[in-house]
Amino acid sequence: MTAFNWQSELARDGSRVFVAGLPVAMHCHHYNINLQKTLEDTLGDEGIQLLFHSAEEANRIGFTSFFNEYRQLKTNKSKLEMAAVIYQNSGFGIIHLQGVNRQGGTILSPSSHHVTGWLAKHGLRDTPGCHFTRGWIAGVLEAVFDKPAGHYTIEETHCKMMRDKECVFQVTGV
Ligand SMILES: [Zn+2]
Repeated sequence: MTAFNWQSELARDGSRVFVAGLPVAMHCHHYNINLQKTLEDTLGDEGIQLLFHSAEEANRIGFTSFFNEYRQLKTNKSKLEMAAVIYQNSGFGIIHLQGVNRQGGTILSPSSHHVTGWLAKHGLRDTPGCHFTRGWIAGVLEAVFDKPAGHYTIEETHCKMMRDKECVFQVTGV
């Protein structure tokens, strides 16, 4: 995508890393998956909600700021394409956002950091486990379509952590 120059926008200041002026945290799967496992084991549904809402809020605020700065990204389609590129460049995996619009839709992810990390550390699950990605999706869509936090419900109907072929997310607007 020509609208975004990674060489100038990905910056370091000492040990701090920035994308388009926004500081980002970098963690490997040991941290991310242990965080998820601890939250699920100790808090159950409340822990899952905490993961979801943290990712949603960080993304809603971050991408709103990003889109305000990058006015070249005019259409919702180009904003969704840019978000998918950033998801991939952040090391989260591959996500296909083109099946979604303001009302909702279906999002597919054939490859994911959290899936690979979970399977390596804990093996198959009985329940879908991509809570971070669900929150990430909700926050991005709220930024793209200018909606408040909590506007989108994201249900993961298939998950590679359960041996499904890909992770499938159903998006519903309030
Ligand atoms: Zn999944």
